[in-house]
Amino acid sequence: MPCRSLKKTFVNLFDSEPRIFCAPGRVNLIGEHTDYNDGYVFPMALAEKTCVAISPRNDRKLVVQSLRIDDKIERSLNELEPRKDWSDYVAGMAWVIEQAGYPLIGANMLISSNVPLGAGLSSSAAIEISSGLALASTIGLQVDSKTWAKWGQKAENQFVGMNCGVMDQFISIHGKENHALFLDCRTLDYQLVPLPADQIRIIICNTMVKHELGASEYNTRRKECENGVELMKSMYPDIKALRDVSPEQFYKAEHLLDDPVKKRCRHVVTEDQRVLDSIQALQQHDLKTFGQFMNASHDSLRDDYKVSCKELDLMVDIARTLDGCLGARMTGGGFGGSTVNLVLEEFERDFVAAIKESYQTTTGIDPQIVVSVPSAGAKEC
Ligand code: ADP
Ligand code: MG
Repeated sequence: MPCRSLKKTFVNLFDSEPRIFCAPGRVNLIGEHTDYNDGYVFPMALAEKTCVAISPRNDRKLVVQSLRIDDKIERSLNELEPRKDWSDYVAGMAWVIEQAGYPLIGANMLISSNVPLGAGLSSSAAIEISSGLALASTIGLQVDSKTWAKWGQKAENQFVGMNCGVMDQFISIHGKENHALFLDCRTLDYQLVPLPADQIRIIICNTMVKHELGASEYNTRRKECENGVELMKSMYPDIKALRDVSPEQFYKAEHLLDDPVKKRCRHVVTEDQRVLDSIQALQQHDLKTFGQFMNASHDSLRDDYKVSCKELDLMVDIARTLDGCLGARMTGGGFGGSTVNLVLEEFERDFVAAIKESYQTTTGIDPQIVVSVPSAGAKEC
């Protein structure tokens, strides 16, 4: 819903003038399952975003309505406990702000969003960052953008209970039009890298499936990575995370590891290198090589990290047969969700039509296709 209509709906519902804060979803171009290993990622912010209209209340209540979920909840700031429903993303941000030493006063909030939910495009970071900025505005609180990224991650880790890295929240606040963002997840140093928007399209294909094992497998992968680091410390005592191991070092040490830990570590170590190499290719305007790194990333996630699924593999396999497709890979945590495809601009239409038809014919599922535009990060509208 455009911000003007959101404002009108808010005034009708709450009888007060709101301020509106929006934050985008994201797609990660390359660098998957590297963020929680202190490694590198390369996401861009989407034009699809979540908007939160807000006005203050003085009774320490949060009255929050989501137009997307079509649900309204009321929670007291005096009893902020996770409830295991969608409102935890909002309440979690309130909890983090108060934990940081800034008491809130209460708020009416109305949320609209066109970020696909649960599709691997981080509607969760979008709602966290937009709600956080909105809540902060009710007490005149201003913090720097890196703090927002960390606060969003803290809400998701410690309140929602999802042990994610910092990438999603970071790009949701730092995105820039026509740019992707290279992020070092250890130092939070980042660099905005221009994308040649006139030559290419970033096309997202939502498989429309989400397999339940996602959360438990995610935690297993994290443990396997930590295990690998512990075992490789006998050769490299100074390493703290897989980020500290180069591919060369890994191949010298892999005999210390058994499967599946060996394969999991191989994915992360080679994926970090692929991020660095692919950005170099992009800076040399070598889109073909960039696409090949995307392909290699998918194959590694499928074969070594084992977080793909048959629908994601099918979507990728179809894409790779189509003209103008330079690279195709799953994006996000895996076990469903979306693929991201690098497609030459002149093939956009044919690509979208063909992948839709082919995926539907094989699976009976109508996929959602988003031709996304690299967009700006969170802001007040
Ligand atoms: P993703 O981040 O890939 O979209 P997640 O499972 O991490 O998937 O987050 C999706 C969840 O976030 C939804 O199921 C819902 O609970 C919550 N959420 C996101 N956006 C909204 C919204 N606009 N309104 C209500 N809940 C939302
Ligand atoms: Mg999420």
